[in-house]
Amino acid sequence: MIFTDSHCHLDFDEFSNHLPALLQACLTSGIHRIIVPSTAPDNWSKVITLCRQGNNGENLAPLLLPCLGIHPWFLSGLTQQHLQQLAALSRQHRQDIIAIGETGIDKVIADKADNLAQQRSFFEYQLQLAKDCHLPVIVHHRRSHHELIPLLKQGKSPYGGIIHAFSGSYQEAKTYIDLGFKLGIGGTISYDRAVKTINTVKRLPLSAIVLETDAPSMPLAGFQGQSNSPLKLVNVFECLKHIRQEPAEIIAERIESNINELFQLP
Ligand SMILES: [Zn+2]
Repeated sequence: MIFTDSHCHLDFDEFSNHLPALLQACLTSGIHRIIVPSTAPDNWSKVITLCRQGNNGENLAPLLLPCLGIHPWFLSGLTQQHLQQLAALSRQHRQDIIAIGETGIDKVIADKADNLAQQRSFFEYQLQLAKDCHLPVIVHHRRSHHELIPLLKQGKSPYGGIIHAFSGSYQEAKTYIDLGFKLGIGGTISYDRAVKTINTVKRLPLSAIVLETDAPSMPLAGFQGQSNSPLKLVNVFECLKHIRQEPAEIIAERIESNINELFQLP
């Protein structure tokens, strides 16, 4: 079986001193593609360069697929000008990138930083940019389904995207699926207490599921306090296998074809 990590911050410092060995280990575990979202202007070129180097054939590595975007945690000090830079860079690297992201709305941060209006406007801008570039979007959410859904409906795009680290009810999941989104399923389902999300994942159509680690964030149950690794994608798959009824091979194959379909990959 082969897998795609649909969300991994490979450019973060946690990985920098052992990246070639880590990438080789991923490949050995069947992780043949890793999608690398970016988070802020600071790391746009790092993500592009890292993916290009990974794909130059010199090292044994999964295919690295970059995205460009502005994460709702990193809006402080950013202006409209940064959005324009993002648009220019996305057009310049249109052949390399596979999505705009990660973007989204984080209600916990919005309450702390009092920046909900800025989060909304940065999200709406990036939704429109994705549409203009004919690309899907990678969407971050936290306590914000009620904020995201109206904006996604209003700016409905034929290119869809991924609701990253999905947690929520079946009804919320269904709303995203109807808007053309896949749901990123990660370490959350390794925690017994995530009853609502596990029950949702049980009922979802397989066609709506993609896998992710969000490494170095979101350690799985039993690994709290450690930095997460893309290698744990296999553990996420194991959890999913226990939740679902279908044979493992069928699940793995279907999830791979979901990625191909969404990102128009061969
Ligand atoms: Zn992320």
